Amino acid sequence: MSALPPKSRTPHVITLVAQPLPSSARERARSCLQAVGGSIQDEKWLAHGRALDLYCDLRSEQAEPLTQALWAALPGVDLAVMPQRNRRKRLICADMDSTIVVGETIEFMAEVLGVREKVAEITERAMRGELDFTQALVERVRMLRDLPVARLSEIAASLQYHRGGRRLIATMKRHADAKAILVSGGFEPIAEVVRAHHDFDRQVSNVLGTTGEGNLSGTVHLPVVDGDRKLDVFQSAIKDERLPANLTMAIGDGANDLPMIRAASLGIAYKGKPLVRQATRFQINHTDLMTALYYQGYDESEIEKVDWS
Ligand SMILES: [Mg+2]
Repeated sequence: MSALPPKSRTPHVITLVAQPLPSSARERARSCLQAVGGSIQDEKWLAHGRALDLYCDLRSEQAEPLTQALWAALPGVDLAVMPQRNRRKRLICADMDSTIVVGETIEFMAEVLGVREKVAEITERAMRGELDFTQALVERVRMLRDLPVARLSEIAASLQYHRGGRRLIATMKRHADAKAILVSGGFEPIAEVVRAHHDFDRQVSNVLGTTGEGNLSGTVHLPVVDGDRKLDVFQSAIKDERLPANLTMAIGDGANDLPMIRAASLGIAYKGKPLVRQATRFQINHTDLMTALYYQGYDESEIEKVDWS
């Protein structure tokens, strides 16, 4: 009986990102790699002192346990283990609230009416996956009744953004001719401002009902943009762009982002809720949206230097 051929190892890369990267990080990564029979063959600084690529050969099924071991050995470091091929993605579907935008826009709307606490509590539970998303959204939108529509542009103008979002989109478009879609359970007039500011190609978000007097009516058009709709937008874009699934990226923080995150070859939990982190191997927990570029192997010289915010 002939021996089975050894399972083949393929070129992989371990990307380590921190601000700054501890000097012990490389050695710790080397030990974790040795424990699965691998070794570092080469390395490259993507951003000096902050983002490091370590090249190695791995069997694909080793990537997951190696990631777990590296997380344990390198607290405070964002990291990813992936094949070297096809790192640069040609589609990005990004969530808006708490991913591109700092905070939840529905709460900024609720604040105007003095109901922020009540709305925030429901948002939190919905994002943890404890409530039906549609029901939770309908309930919160009802509390926004009588908010003047004119206030929405004021809210949009005062938003703060997570660092690196504009550079992420600009760089992927410039170097990979990527399509960028903002897909949000938030609301259209605000999502349109965020889309334009970040140069997403388009946005998909919820539409609010209005009254003849220029106020919100407390209703939202159905069906709402929930996790299934986000997945649908993601899959339709793959089809429209005729992309192989291994050139896709999705990023988000909430339970409603999980279906598209799972479907993407680079599906990233960005400062994700525990439920999302549990289900996702690619995570950014300590740094910013620039790390989504480092995971794709972009170095400082390639990153588009558009304004941070
Ligand atoms: Mg979100």
